[in-house]
Amino acid sequence: MAARKLKEVDAVIIGLGWTGGILAKELSEAGLKVVALERGKMTTTDADFQLQQVRDELRYVQRQEMMQDASRDTVTMRNTPKQDALPVRRLGSFLPGEAVGGSGLHWSGGTWRWSDNEFKVRSLYEQRYGAKFISSEMSDLRDWGITYAEMERYYDKFEYVAAVSGKAGNLKGKVQPGGNPFEGPRAREYPLPPLKSVLSSQLFAEAATKAGYHPFPRPAANASRAYTNPDGATFGGCQYCGFCQRFGCEANAKASPHITVVPAAMKSPNFELRTHSWVTQILKDPSAKRVTGVLYTNLLTGEELEQPASMVVLATFTMNNTHLMLLSGIGQPYDPATQTGVIGRNYCYETRTGANLFFEGRSFNRFISAGGTNWVIDDFNANWNFDRGPHGFVGGYIVSAGHNTNLPIGNRPVPGGTPAWGTAWKEALAKWSDSSMGITSSGGSMPHRYNYLDLDPTYKNAFNQPLLRMTFDFKENEHRMNAHAAQVVNELAKSLNATRMSSANGKPQSWTVVPYLSTHNGGGTPMGTDPKTSAVNPFLQSWDAHNLFVMGANVFPHNGAYQPTGLVGALAYRTADIIKSRYMKNPGPLVSA
Ligand SMILES: Cc1cc2nc3c(=O)[nH]c(=O)nc-3n(C[C@H](O)[C@H](O)[C@H](O)COP(=O)(O)OP(=O)(O)OC[C@H]3O[C@@H](n4cnc5c(N)ncnc54)[C@H](O)[C@@H]3O)c2cc1C
Ligand code: SF4
Repeated sequence: MAARKLKEVDAVIIGLGWTGGILAKELSEAGLKVVALERGKMTTTDADFQLQQVRDELRYVQRQEMMQDASRDTVTMRNTPKQDALPVRRLGSFLPGEAVGGSGLHWSGGTWRWSDNEFKVRSLYEQRYGAKFISSEMSDLRDWGITYAEMERYYDKFEYVAAVSGKAGNLKGKVQPGGNPFEGPRAREYPLPPLKSVLSSQLFAEAATKAGYHPFPRPAANASRAYTNPDGATFGGCQYCGFCQRFGCEANAKASPHITVVPAAMKSPNFELRTHSWVTQILKDPSAKRVTGVLYTNLLTGEELEQPASMVVLATFTMNNTHLMLLSGIGQPYDPATQTGVIGRNYCYETRTGANLFFEGRSFNRFISAGGTNWVIDDFNANWNFDRGPHGFVGGYIVSAGHNTNLPIGNRPVPGGTPAWGTAWKEALAKWSDSSMGITSSGGSMPHRYNYLDLDPTYKNAFNQPLLRMTFDFKENEHRMNAHAAQVVNELAKSLNATRMSSANGKPQSWTVVPYLSTHNGGGTPMGTDPKTSAVNPFLQSWDAHNLFVMGANVFPHNGAYQPTGLVGALAYRTADIIKSRYMKNPGPLVSA
């Protein structure tokens, strides 16, 4: 049966997480008639995140209540193009969200400003180390087409909307004590002071200072005290409840779209939200290089509908955005054999390693923590004085420590060599679990010719569409970085003289879908200045359809050491700005190809 065609609107937004929410608010306030289509349900703190039920690890972690429903749509995965990809039946390594608020409901809140080290990556490394430093398989490594200076006011905007707690390290070019000395200059302080530190972050900070590094509190969208943001959204102070990542916040202290940009959009009579609405295709008019709207299914009735629109904003998270572009035939799919095509290109993830330390007789009160109670060093990332030359890798990593969401069921650290069950395990658990802390590194991953996304030839989703296929593994660049990171982590860990220690592993390892690593997936529709190698221009406008704007970390040409959402949010505000200031007056390509 043909889809029922609805009345045309000015803009349709697909997905209502962080980026969809920002565009929804900004565009409806600017007078556009906006419809948002979200596959998940409506979420409110009162209905969904009340005590005691919100602290339910079985429900939110084991049964993944707020995550993408993998029985309806998932990805297939393999490490290399020679392997057969298999469907990920239960999400593990990453956990995209599914509800109004998206992954922003259950993130931790770590909020960073990515620096020019990332945006100018190719030119900086070529200048310092010569073109041969970048291997031919990493030929997609490129400058992004944006600068830190351009992004500064959008970072600022996101931080003030999201109640970020932190300490500036560089105010208008002047390095500030207590903050990150390697960050780019900011126009003003964070909206809120840093969160309180916990014992593990204090021990780490002492060890890092002694080793000559520069520790500082992780900036986080966990309000350190009650706050009202510039849009009038009110936050409670963080309770250090210990159930942050993967949970909703009962205190409205963790910034989430459902308490910030979404209610702000809903105040506008121009905005309409349709939940349980799964978009299966973006419709296009190739002759005019335009999109014309979307097809979606009402998940409650099964009805298929067409929503015509003058503009489409794609905001469904990294993998879903790439999937919808491929399913809709917008932009040429990437082919690793010829290195032509753009959709699916530059898919990147994140590298991690860590050490666990056990201090006999010492209590860390691990149940007290927030998403951002960690302290961090940036000496091997934004610090351009760190010479990567002898170590042979591009990019960097941060090192951090401090408890962040210690799940009573899922996170029970015991020293290496402890039996996995039985009396000895129980005794070790009682003895060590609250006496332990970890030190972890998080590193970037760079584009590689054979890391990419495309449509799976075999497996289909609930709408009879090919699943997205992920071909990904850590490559030589990541292995080298990880080896260096493990060394730094282990040196810091040893200096703390713990009773027992499980060292960080710096040996090359393959990526697997379990265990959880991070939901910091990037690339797939990369931005750039050349339509031959990028899917969107630096304003996140599709090269193939000028009225399609593509949000999210999928536009990153590579992945960095920092978590993504500070930049994802800032880019969304920048796109909203350009749509309002230029595109609405004169629709068409914002950058000539
Ligand atoms: C456990 C966890 C911890 C994290 N911690 C951090 C952190 O500390 N710091 C950080 O920077 N980042 C963190 N992240 C990542 C962060 O949540 C994301 O970067 C951010 O939410 C991305 O915003 P988005 O708008 O691109 O996508 P999302 O916020 O995920 O929103 C996408 C929305 O699109 C909807 N959707 C998808 N497909 C369709 C479709 N076909 N039709 C209609 N709707 C659709 C989804 O249901 C969802 O609501 C974390 C993520 C997770 C899961
Ligand atoms: S740790 Fe703080 S911000 Fe996180 S869920 Fe608990 S109260 Fe909210």
